[in-house]
Amino acid sequence: MLLFSMERIKFFKAEIKFHLLLSILFAIFISFASYVHIPLDDSKSLFIYAIHFLILQFSVFGFLYILSISKRIFLVIFPIIFFVLSAISFWVYTQDISINSGMIQAILESNIDIAIDVVSLQFVIFLFFNLLCIIFIIQKHRKLKINTLKSPLFILSIIAIAVYFLADRYRFGILTRKLPYSAFIGVKDYLEKPNLKLREVPKNISTKKDSLHIVFVLGESVRADHLSINGYRRNTTPLLKKQNNVLSFKNIYTPLTYTAISVPQILSDKSILDHRKNEVYSLYSILKKTGFYTEWIGNQSLEKSYEGLVKTNEKILIVDKFHSVLSFKKEKDLVLLDTFKLQNFSTKNKISTLHMIGSHWYYNSRFDDRFKIFNPMVTSKYVGSASKEELINSYDNTILYLDFFLNKLINKLKKSQQETILIYLSDHGETLGEEGQWFHAQRNKASENPAMLVWYSEKFKKKNPISIKNLLSRQHDTLSTDFLFHSILDVSKIKDFNYKIEKSIFSQKKNN
Ligand SMILES: [Zn+2]
Repeated sequence: MLLFSMERIKFFKAEIKFHLLLSILFAIFISFASYVHIPLDDSKSLFIYAIHFLILQFSVFGFLYILSISKRIFLVIFPIIFFVLSAISFWVYTQDISINSGMIQAILESNIDIAIDVVSLQFVIFLFFNLLCIIFIIQKHRKLKINTLKSPLFILSIIAIAVYFLADRYRFGILTRKLPYSAFIGVKDYLEKPNLKLREVPKNISTKKDSLHIVFVLGESVRADHLSINGYRRNTTPLLKKQNNVLSFKNIYTPLTYTAISVPQILSDKSILDHRKNEVYSLYSILKKTGFYTEWIGNQSLEKSYEGLVKTNEKILIVDKFHSVLSFKKEKDLVLLDTFKLQNFSTKNKISTLHMIGSHWYYNSRFDDRFKIFNPMVTSKYVGSASKEELINSYDNTILYLDFFLNKLINKLKKSQQETILIYLSDHGETLGEEGQWFHAQRNKASENPAMLVWYSEKFKKKNPISIKNLLSRQHDTLSTDFLFHSILDVSKIKDFNYKIEKSIFSQKKNN
């Protein structure tokens, strides 16, 4: 028996027509929103993303078909799903908002209007057409005679669902980062409990410091060997080169090559070797206990894996929190410096963390026109259509932007009354075509060697001569990112808390 014989197709013609129509409307109102902002400048990229879109829409058909088998369930569930998803897609269409757990949280806790224009005339018109569409589909569905498991579409829908799971196995997030899936994954992530438990900090700890300001800049995807300060052939750090008191540690190592696993390690006493450890001390909880003021200013929406650690800060400010790394309308990092203020008094210790979007792909979104120095750059998000040279040019322009950012920050910190130390550490490196690989989350030298810099103020130098001496002597050591936690506690002169002083860049190197 032929599965798709003409006779059968004729028999199920109404059903096929209905699902074709449903898929088209679903694509227009929902799925296509995730594609409109992607920069695609050539026919090859367009072709690849057209295929991507068709695969996504085909898999959506599978789920919609299963939903449509029961008339009653479809009648109840479909209008809700369609209405909510297309309301969300409106913000994706118009503002390239990222649909993730942070966004879902904002919707559920109804504080979304803080950051985005929720209600506009266009929005109301969009929702009106969306309602018409729902009524139209429901009526068509009610008139549909058959919807049985014997339909060829049923078998097709099972294949479509299989395609969804296979695609996600092929490359994590390939479909789930796009609507409608991103909304469901966002809800799942929102409901999920973090697996990191925070340990209670002992009560009796204290500090010998009284006017220290630590500025910790947490970078993103910056590999050490693309900084000219580390010997890179291109002049990517011209401004930092001219600054005094800047030291670069170019031999930093981490095997944790993506944000979700590297950041929780950096911000806690977890070592790069502690794979299983999930009960940790937050760096901020310890400092706070000794009277430090702790603030976090970030240009990245928080991920579940380190959100708990960030929340141990007294002040948390996420600028542009509804645009994730995936958005093409994301704010540039300089906006962090507008928010970051020096305190007027010098009698309190303080740690400020600035979390950058840094050099995360899509590189061109990370800098403004002033930094389009290395050309030609990429013009399309599809890596396959760009040359290695174009990708590296775009990447190097993000380093120029970093140079400008840190230079501006240092100039600001020079005006401070406090002893000030700045530590910059990228969360991991980046692969730029080595062994045909791109970006990060792979294990290779480029991804495992993040950039790290230290700058100290004259006042810090005067008050901490031994720390400076040690710092200078350890500059060429090979260190793991474990150094961060222990160095900050060491430079803060924390008493009665057991940290590993031998891992600190401010302590004398132990001779074995
Ligand atoms: Zn990262």
